[in-house]
Amino acid sequence: MSRFTTDSVIAVIGAGTMGAGIAQVAAKAGHPVLLFDAAEGAAQRGIDNTAKGLSKLVERGRMSQQDADALVARIKPVSAITDLAPSNLVIEAIVERLDIKQQVFGQLEEICAEDTVIATNTSSISVTAIGSSLKRSQNLVGMHFFNPAPIMKLVEVISGLDTDPQVAADIYELSASWGKLPVHAKSTPGFIVNRVARPFYAEGLRINQEGAADIATIDALLRECGGFRMGPFELMDLIGHDVNYAVTCSVFEAFYNDQRFLPSLIQKELVDAGHFGRKSGRGFYDYSEGAVKPAPATADNCPAPASITIEGSLGVAEALVQLIEQAGITVNRVENDEVEGMIMVGDATLMLTNGQFTTQRAAETMRPNLINFDLALDYAKATRIALAPADQASTDALQSVTGLFQAIGKAVSVIDDVPGMAVMRTVCMLANEGYDAVNQQVCDDQAVDIAMKGGVNYPCGPIEWVDALGLSYALDVLDNLMDAYGEDRYRASPLMLRKVAGDA
Ligand code: NAD
Repeated sequence: MSRFTTDSVIAVIGAGTMGAGIAQVAAKAGHPVLLFDAAEGAAQRGIDNTAKGLSKLVERGRMSQQDADALVARIKPVSAITDLAPSNLVIEAIVERLDIKQQVFGQLEEICAEDTVIATNTSSISVTAIGSSLKRSQNLVGMHFFNPAPIMKLVEVISGLDTDPQVAADIYELSASWGKLPVHAKSTPGFIVNRVARPFYAEGLRINQEGAADIATIDALLRECGGFRMGPFELMDLIGHDVNYAVTCSVFEAFYNDQRFLPSLIQKELVDAGHFGRKSGRGFYDYSEGAVKPAPATADNCPAPASITIEGSLGVAEALVQLIEQAGITVNRVENDEVEGMIMVGDATLMLTNGQFTTQRAAETMRPNLINFDLALDYAKATRIALAPADQASTDALQSVTGLFQAIGKAVSVIDDVPGMAVMRTVCMLANEGYDAVNQQVCDDQAVDIAMKGGVNYPCGPIEWVDALGLSYALDVLDNLMDAYGEDRYRASPLMLRKVAGDA
């Protein structure tokens, strides 16, 4: 039986962005909540902000005024940390500094009962390190909410070296009873989300740095083809480059400069220039008044082919067949298990990117007019697709495959030949990082998918995504990226290797 009931008193320290939201979550679940902040009047301001937010829900008919009032009434501002004595659980959401967190927890140990659970909402500090100065470090656990706390479902329940497994289990259960999606994770740099998400930014930055596509095109591809709510550049601008770059650097350093997490010079330039993103009026995009957001590169209309020939299986891209037929284009099929699936349009050949340069694949397959296309979350729903022609491909070949995708309703972005294109390499790298976290016992594979969907709104968990793609295909993509770059960053997780071997 869990140690918590709805009568359990929940205290929140720090009434800023996260603390006020966490207090709201606990109060909504029916707990009496104590809210403390060192800055005078901040706790009451936090409660006022919560009340303001709830009144919008009342206006939209999503909550009754009575329930909103009752929720707010359950949050009591307190003016001294000693007022937190009756708490059964204290959740800390103060400034991100190890020394200050340790000092506050040290005080709490003196003030609260011996069995009071103390939780930290830290995004980047080791729970083990925070616990090192405590008398009862077994009672300390990470309870990592995501912004905005009342909306985002994920709670990463982080165990430090000393955390009592029963404490972690009780916090997991409590979070679930609050309507959250909790996952267990070990205290390691970036926990799950801030570690697994790194390639989302890093691959976008890398593709842009290599001149394969501009930021608006990469963003459009990740959104319209990958199904992500925002592209990497839009998202970094929203998070703030100071914050996003600092997280990348802290994960990089915490992993002893593992090249996998190497920060990007392009982003450092923005930070150095003070172009932090939306909050400073300029990041990758210009947010000044009257500024027009650049449009993604979109190919001009090309004629649709009358017929195509498909040889082999298209795997995850099989959905294209129906779309092509529905567009009135004749589809001839050649059964052939020996070859990678390909679509022949006149003398052009289309293939799903496998992580190689199209140019290299064209040379190896002796198909000079080869054009790679990118991975989509759902080929039927995608509104945009990327094409990367081989250097030796003719303009006619590119135009005929462009016409094919346009005929099935897709905007076409032609990008320069870059291994793994945009969506494919991002998704394979996300899954690779997820598998590595699992391999290093940070969490289980289900937790990776739950975390990325519940914490950062990914449209699909990276692990389930590469399962649908075919794990051996994803491994080939990574191996080909590794061959192309020769960098440790693209080394495949040993767990992926093992799983592919086990499935063979
Ligand atoms: P914030 O600056 O909005 O709020 C912090 C509050 O803590 C302030 O009101 C401040 O007055 C108060 N405070 C500072 N030192 C204090 C002390 N010693 N005692 C009591 N109150 C104190 O910060 P935030 O964005 O809410 O972040 C809080 C914590 O949550 C950090 O550890 C951060 O890493 C983590 N976090 C933030 C986000 C996010 O998106 N903002 C997401 C997840 C986790």
